[in-house]
Amino acid sequence: MVEKALVLLKKYYGYDSFREGQKEIIENILNGNDVLAVMPTGGGKSICYQIPAMIMEGTTIVISPLISLMKDQVDTLQQLDIPAAYINSSLPLGELNRIIFEACNNKYKLLYVAPERLDSENFIEMLKNIKISMIAVDEAHCVSQWGHDFRPSYLKIRELEKLYKEKPIISAFTATATPAVREDIINLIKLHNHFEIITGFDRVNLKFDVVKLNKKFPYLLKYIEENKEKSGIIYCLTRKLTDEVHNRLITAGYKAVKYHAGLSDAERNKNQDDFLYDNADIIVATNAFGMGIDKLDIRYVIHYNMPKNIESYYQEAGRAGRDGEASECILLFNPSDIVMNNFLIESSIDESNKSNEYAKLREMINYCNTDKCLRHYIINYFDSSFNKEKCNNCSNCLSEIESSDITMETQKILSCIYRMEERFGMNVVIDVLKGSSSQRIRMLKFDKLSTYGLMKEYSKDTLKEIIAYLISDGYIIISGDKYPVLKISQTGNAVLRGKQQVTIKKVFSKNNQEDKNILTDYPKDLFEMLRAKRKELAHKLKVAPFIVFSDATLKDMCVKYPLNKEDMLRIKGVGEHKAEKYGEVFIDIISHYVNEHNIQISKLENHKINDEDINNTKTSNKTDKVKKEDTRTISYNLYNEGKNLKEIADIRGFSIVTIEEHLLQCAKLGFDINFDDFIEPEHEKLILEAFNKIGSDKLKPIKEALPHEITYTEIKFALCKNKEGGHTSLQG
Ligand code: ADP
Ligand code: MG
Ligand code: ZN
Repeated sequence: MVEKALVLLKKYYGYDSFREGQKEIIENILNGNDVLAVMPTGGGKSICYQIPAMIMEGTTIVISPLISLMKDQVDTLQQLDIPAAYINSSLPLGELNRIIFEACNNKYKLLYVAPERLDSENFIEMLKNIKISMIAVDEAHCVSQWGHDFRPSYLKIRELEKLYKEKPIISAFTATATPAVREDIINLIKLHNHFEIITGFDRVNLKFDVVKLNKKFPYLLKYIEENKEKSGIIYCLTRKLTDEVHNRLITAGYKAVKYHAGLSDAERNKNQDDFLYDNADIIVATNAFGMGIDKLDIRYVIHYNMPKNIESYYQEAGRAGRDGEASECILLFNPSDIVMNNFLIESSIDESNKSNEYAKLREMINYCNTDKCLRHYIINYFDSSFNKEKCNNCSNCLSEIESSDITMETQKILSCIYRMEERFGMNVVIDVLKGSSSQRIRMLKFDKLSTYGLMKEYSKDTLKEIIAYLISDGYIIISGDKYPVLKISQTGNAVLRGKQQVTIKKVFSKNNQEDKNILTDYPKDLFEMLRAKRKELAHKLKVAPFIVFSDATLKDMCVKYPLNKEDMLRIKGVGEHKAEKYGEVFIDIISHYVNEHNIQISKLENHKINDEDINNTKTSNKTDKVKKEDTRTISYNLYNEGKNLKEIADIRGFSIVTIEEHLLQCAKLGFDINFDDFIEPEHEKLILEAFNKIGSDKLKPIKEALPHEITYTEIKFALCKNKEGGHTSLQG
């Protein structure tokens, strides 16, 4: 049975092997066990229930909390020709009835429903008529009040088993791993003797970065400029800030939309769709955005403010890179974030939970201040057994930290705060230290203090930076509910009394980025062409672009240059159905590109070898090689039968360019080809002259130097003939 699962994985999804946990989960479901699976975002939970659903008899009911989630999943399945549908409040009545009718005729392998559907008696009646293979509960943490997205209707799930003589298999999936939530899922959904698996939380493709700075916007702008055309989320702590950042990005000319609870439903949905469908590159949002966002190709998540705890941070940041491609999670930090978060906790109504929230906030602040591996810090928070101390893919692992002693500066600042009786905020303290002659300072008689003007040689920004460090390292405490006021902590007192030194850590980026790019290099222009085609197709199909192909898949095409269907099937994320549906249009673009840039076949084969090294599956290589030769020989045999390029292309369902490629490769391999079949007699000489003049075998300039009627095909065959045939005419 598991072999069958592997076959389906390749055939439908185009993947060669299972990810961590998937095999065990599928195995257990197929053996009839209930399952609780905790896997990180992007870990590949959907496949764990979709594949068994395809294998088992009957329909799998998937409980999924959000309309957008259901639509994406069902779109994906339909693209793969797997019979699936969803039922939710967004459907027009006629459509709803049709789906219910077909569901009762057991037409679907998967039927997605919102949990609220379970409150409807009609629906429950209907379920009795369907042969159910499994109930799969996606985002199962929604059953728990401890989780962040509690949905009361999830509690109805446990009643479903009463409907059937034989208890259906129940599988539950979540990325939320706290023991309390896990406990709730088991008890509230009522899993029996279930198989439980918690896979690692590490997401190796995510790079973590904490950037401490005073002025955040210029940094953001620079980053976005350097990452144009990529999809990204910018999280802000408040609606007001969301509006502001969004506004400034729009003004700067970027395609950004916004999302927060203060917008109307319609506006929110539109903005979300614009982001999902690649009409907008950037979404600026509060934490209201993201639950149920399955967009795969989000390349960065920037937190414009420090969020309230590590759980939220990892969940939000984790929305980057679900396709497994390198992505960045950047947290922009300055001490005002602490003030804002304190304020939010202080003003929340739930008194009982405040101390807990403060404790969690402290852990978050520690994340921003640690000089150790950031990934280690986060993963360790969830899983104390995680012991990889250095990841080399976070800003701390990638930077050198230089310390300088700032004990004297600290003493000056603290004594100034002390003399101002710990009643003022950062700006006033700085004004005094700088010796400002403003009216307010004079009115308060601060110009009479011994600390007045004590640090006038320091710039305002430097002072801010130092105070920021002192706050985040706990020498200064921020308090006061309306206006943040600076106070001296116990450790601060120790410094004032000369009992403790203070060192500030300055971070210098080592910038390892460059070597990395070499490894993942691919032609960006081709990638953009493929992306444009993907968008066009998606638009026609009314699905999100990543449902057609993910970024990872397009990149793989840019590395491997698939020129026919067999090649296409070797691309990561291309199964038979997608190869069938979209293969050709993409192959056409790629073969034009290959021709235009005169990318040599030998190079193609190098790429293949790389790929084989990576896959490291010796046996399948051989069959692939044979297949590849087969496809060329098939074209060659047709040519030998006297068919022309167009006829061969039609018979084989490939583009003409692909057939040309086959024949040229055969010629290079020593097969007998009569080149003159492809070249007009008087053209050959012109082509060779042009070639000699231009001095390179790039096709485009040669074509442009020649009369219009001479085709690329002629040029390619003429060059091939004169190279392979060993004539010296090429050298002039
Ligand atoms: P989750 O629900 O766990 O957040 P998804 O099920 O949405 O994750 O999967 C995330 C991405 O990983 C999807 O693009 C999916 O196709 C891909 N994926 C899943 N399983 C595999 C696999 N075995 N090999 C490669 N990619 C996979
Ligand atoms: Mg999921
Ligand atoms: Zn690290």
